[in-house]
Amino acid sequence: MIRSLLIANRGEIACRIIRTARRLGVRTIAVFSDADAKALHVREADEAVHIGPSPARESYLVGEKIIAAARATGAAAIHPGYGFLSENADFAQAVIDSGLVWVGPKPHSIRAMGLKDAAKRLMDEAGVPTTPGYLGEDQVPERLHREADSIGYPVLIKAVAGGGGKGMRRVNASEEFQDMLQSCKREAASSFGDDRVLIEKYILRPRHIEVQVFGDTQGNVVHLFERDCSLQRRHQKVIEEAPAPGMDEATRAAVCGAAVKAAQAVDYVGAGTIEFIADASEGLRPDRIWFMEMNTRLQVEHPVTEEITGQDLVEWQLRVASGEPLPLRQEELGITGWAMEARLYAEDPAHEFLPSTGRLDHFELGRHIRIDTGVEEGDRISPYYDPMIAKLIARGASRDEAIERLLDTLDQVEVWPVKTNAAFLARAAADPDFRAGEVDTAFIPSKIDSLVPDPSPSDAVWNLAANAMLAVEFETRGGSGFDPWRALQGFRANSEPDLRVALRHGAETRTVQIGRDEEVEGVATASGDAMLVFSEGQAFAFALPGHSGGAGGGGASDGTLLSPMPGRVISVDARQGDAVAKGQKLITLEAMKMEHSLVAPFDGIVAELNAAEGAQVTEGTLLVRIEKAH
Ligand code: ADP
Repeated sequence: MIRSLLIANRGEIACRIIRTARRLGVRTIAVFSDADAKALHVREADEAVHIGPSPARESYLVGEKIIAAARATGAAAIHPGYGFLSENADFAQAVIDSGLVWVGPKPHSIRAMGLKDAAKRLMDEAGVPTTPGYLGEDQVPERLHREADSIGYPVLIKAVAGGGGKGMRRVNASEEFQDMLQSCKREAASSFGDDRVLIEKYILRPRHIEVQVFGDTQGNVVHLFERDCSLQRRHQKVIEEAPAPGMDEATRAAVCGAAVKAAQAVDYVGAGTIEFIADASEGLRPDRIWFMEMNTRLQVEHPVTEEITGQDLVEWQLRVASGEPLPLRQEELGITGWAMEARLYAEDPAHEFLPSTGRLDHFELGRHIRIDTGVEEGDRISPYYDPMIAKLIARGASRDEAIERLLDTLDQVEVWPVKTNAAFLARAAADPDFRAGEVDTAFIPSKIDSLVPDPSPSDAVWNLAANAMLAVEFETRGGSGFDPWRALQGFRANSEPDLRVALRHGAETRTVQIGRDEEVEGVATASGDAMLVFSEGQAFAFALPGHSGGAGGGGASDGTLLSPMPGRVISVDARQGDAVAKGQKLITLEAMKMEHSLVAPFDGIVAELNAAEGAQVTEGTLLVRIEKAH
């Protein structure tokens, strides 16, 4: 077994890999950028090496710096995680050439699967069913158009070099084809530097089914069954599960068998995923499921496979990379129970899912299910990287039980002031069609209005806040023996019926009458001069009228400048450590099609700066903190 491992990644996946490496007695080396100097993966690793500035292209994406870090620390192997350099065949080759072990497939396997058209051609040859379509070399627009016409609409135009849901256009009718082709090519050229496309039949009622495969250096390949990742927003996975609902043995045998064939065709070593698309208009059927692409790395959603098979896939990766055979043979693998994973993002569903950055002043996800995360309370969500903050992984004997457990956890997510999609996830998981296993990739887009929660508090939440405020009032008057700063759960106010509390949420002020024996769901907790209420995955901050309560933006008297509304940073005119004068412009935001300047409230030093040009920020994000000059 390799003795030491450098992890060329960050966040939850770096922490995930460290966990297994530590259990196996492997020394771990983290790498980090400026923004991650105090990140959890750095704190958890045995050693850590600084590899550059915050933008990934100057740190996590610079192969030479990572290999140099591995050399400097005497690491024996490099694990790339997912994203970043994980599917970069040149980097894999450079790792191998410098005498290190690459925890991943051979570079030629990565290359073979790197372009969608070449991969599909290869799969055709290997006898793996592929989505009907056109893969031709001839890219003349008129030819592409004729091919689309003969496939029959709707069709999907896909960039051959595409990935991450980018570079795809659905075309519903022949008249739209040329416009869609041009826009797809433009996006492909700017995102991937390659504007070639392929055309596929657009599958109606499509389900995304993928199969986990594993190969070793002895030539063995097994599958670890399927996952269903049909719940997607803008082609990005939101909730994944294993096994797939409605999967029968014949279809499973067909799709898992095809996946093994696909892996064998590219001489595959390590963890990989073969993605298929199924036409589920008449349920899952063995002859209606086609190869889409292969991801030559460990996937974000690998935990659901671990939960139903009882295996640790990172351990499998490290064993295979060390030259050991696969830990189990195909006939030793089986499925027990059901598992669901929800991706918790720092984003604001109520504002077009804009990423939300800032410090996690309050961060409590519960402890009853598996949670893979790379952050803790007090850590920062920076604008530089993917805003996923945790994966909530629930398992149960049945699908219903797994959903119940996931919902329990989602309802109790407490995160503040960073916004999350917890309530959105909870609504998706509680949806009757989802519960019935009626999933396809149109699920989220077709139900988006009912899935995005109302950002204003319900009457019950106002009541809970008022009750909790009252408890604080009692305490400040010395009247009761309450501990108002503890969390209040289902607080019962046995008080006079005409008690009234005035409080404010954002711009709205209400006077709430506290009834006798009032009982409400949720948790309230005091934070600074705000009362936070967490309810069904949402977070609300209330203030007594006249107090800022941390609930509104821009209370600059203490030197903190918060973004007044969701927007995009268009310029940053100060740097950390700068001396600035009262009224000096520090940051310009573009929000609601207007520019807003944030200026220094007094003379001082820029003590904290949490904004990068081009970054999206949500309302209430701490952008700058000025300390008074002494
Ligand atoms: P990427 O590499 O960008 O992730 P994929 O080829 O994996 O692109 O496709 C991403 C998603 O797009 C799939 O999960 C599926 O929801 C949808 N999709 C892909 N191909 C088709 C198709 N032929 N018909 C309908 N939907 C498709």
